[in-house]
Amino acid sequence: MVRNDLEGQGIKDRGVLDAFMRVPREAFVPEGTGLREAYGDHPCPIGCGQTVSQPFIVAYMIQMLGCVPGDNVLEVGTGSGYQTAILAAMGLKVVTVEVITRLAARARGAVLGILPHADVSFIVADGYQGWRPAAPYRGIIVSAAPVSIPGELESQLSPVGGRLVIPAGEWSQSLFLVERVGDELTVRRSLPVRFVPLVRRRGGSGDDPNGRPRGDTE
Ligand code: SAH
Repeated sequence: MVRNDLEGQGIKDRGVLDAFMRVPREAFVPEGTGLREAYGDHPCPIGCGQTVSQPFIVAYMIQMLGCVPGDNVLEVGTGSGYQTAILAAMGLKVVTVEVITRLAARARGAVLGILPHADVSFIVADGYQGWRPAAPYRGIIVSAAPVSIPGELESQLSPVGGRLVIPAGEWSQSLFLVERVGDELTVRRSLPVRFVPLVRRRGGSGDDPNGRPRGDTE
């Protein structure tokens, strides 16, 4: 998988490739999923109507983040915990937010089962507006797609080159890379993608204390 689907398709970051070698994907898909299915280059069902992204997309998004060991990263959409484990195996300090309690609990068990010393905080909340208590972040990676990029996520980026990697779009989605330097944001559009929707729950963790909605509504 690493040689064909990742290196063969242009993933070059050694830290990303090494992390993929250390994290067994079968530990993050439901029991009974065959190895061929788990390691195929396609999304895989993980229960609760959600999927874990195909390995290439996970690797591509993490490579876009450009993080180095010790950087702090916010992941929105823990899901199976597979991507969380890859980020942790790269030596990153991870805060991961998941809206479905059952998935978050299962992911926590799976990640810590493989990487007992991983530096990961598992949070059950609506991550649409990020997770302010641990902001700013050197990287923010979002595994579900809003219609447009939430301003609150951009504001939680480190002003010293913080990067947000996020799928967004209404009828068709693309991957976006937002980079922040000071108050300047540079937005670049990358691959066309298809992710599950980023849901919004009223009264979520990141609600604006002034009651002023930020970002765009779905
Ligand atoms: N990175 C995950 C992908 C999971 S799919 C993995 O490796 O398995 C996307 C996940 O985003 C789902 O688990 C879904 O429940 C979650 N999600 C959707 N909207 C969310 C929100 N507003 N806040 C947090 N998680 C959300």
